[in-house]
Amino acid sequence: DRNNTGQLTKYYDILKDAAIYYYKNLRQNESALNYLNRRGISYETIKKFGLGFSNDAWRNLLDKLKNKYSISELEAVGLCLPNKDGTSHYDRFRNRIMFPIINPKGKIVGFGGRVMDDSLPKYLNSPETDVFNKSRTLYGLNLAKNVLNQKKQLIIAEGYMDVITLHTNGFENAVATLGTALTSDHARLMKRYADEVVLCYDSDFAGQKAALRSLDILHGIIEKVKVVVLGENLDPDDFLKKYGSEAFKEKVETALTGTEFKLNHLKQGYNLNDESSKIEFLSKAVSVISEIENNFEKNLHIERLGELLGVNTEMIAQEVFKGQYKKE
Ligand code: ATP
Ligand code: MN
Ligand code: MN
Ligand code: MN
Repeated sequence: DRNNTGQLTKYYDILKDAAIYYYKNLRQNESALNYLNRRGISYETIKKFGLGFSNDAWRNLLDKLKNKYSISELEAVGLCLPNKDGTSHYDRFRNRIMFPIINPKGKIVGFGGRVMDDSLPKYLNSPETDVFNKSRTLYGLNLAKNVLNQKKQLIIAEGYMDVITLHTNGFENAVATLGTALTSDHARLMKRYADEVVLCYDSDFAGQKAALRSLDILHGIIEKVKVVVLGENLDPDDFLKKYGSEAFKEKVETALTGTEFKLNHLKQGYNLNDESSKIEFLSKAVSVISEIENNFEKNLHIERLGELLGVNTEMIAQEVFKGQYKKE
């Protein structure tokens, strides 16, 4: 309704004012500029992503905006919090590099804030608000959507810095889920803009686990899903800085299918020189292959598995298709 629309417009105005304040404030903070410089972020990139800085103070933003907006409105968009006895409020984001989160319509819906040292939490995000729903938000989609009409491929990374470095290296089709795991809402949002999704998570244990989970969620929503594994515990930001964009392009072009990724991941847990370990792997691999819908792809993996293990492919096929008949 009208009233509500008016309220939301007000919220967007507040968030925009806050972003402008953080952006201008960054120019005045040498240590924040140095931090970004050390991380390879240029002025041009600061401008493109609207990066900012929140001071190490309790009520700088509040003081800046309190005459223009009510405290309850500032609280409703997640920019301030009440203190314990509820007598006053303080800024949520303090002493952090600020990343505005912008929706595809160009409206700022929230912020992520990063500390410049090892203190915790490393990132702080806006809470869920009337204008910010994390499980429906993809960081960078406001920019990525402009290139997705040509090539309908989305690269999915974990974080802010990954998206920024990907974009500056020419991968402007990159977005990130922010700390939260990928949801089916994310998947449906992706489907509106792309027909292929390339998962490119951190290559640490958590990132690889997340890729497995995401594959399951994307299944049935996005037809073509691939997985990039960067190795050496690198994330896309680290990888691009270490190996450059050509090497990353190669990684995307040789990305694994979901099944290849699952089988590779599975294989890591087994010693194939040990007979009982090999048998256990074989039966787990058979269940992965059984889930493939396309029979040609199924056969391809049966062949590969037979070759890898030196096992008769007829026998593997029998096991795989036995599962199929059971299901039907
Ligand atoms: P950096 O390169 O700046 O260290 P990163 O993106 O590599 O950051 P990760 O630890 O890999 O950091 O986390 C991935 C993403 O998850 C972050 O960019 C952020 O969006 C989100 N995230 C990480 N830690 C938190 C946290 N404590 N609370 C909320 N979100 C978080
Ligand atoms: Mn990570
Ligand atoms: Mn990371
Ligand atoms: Mn990183």
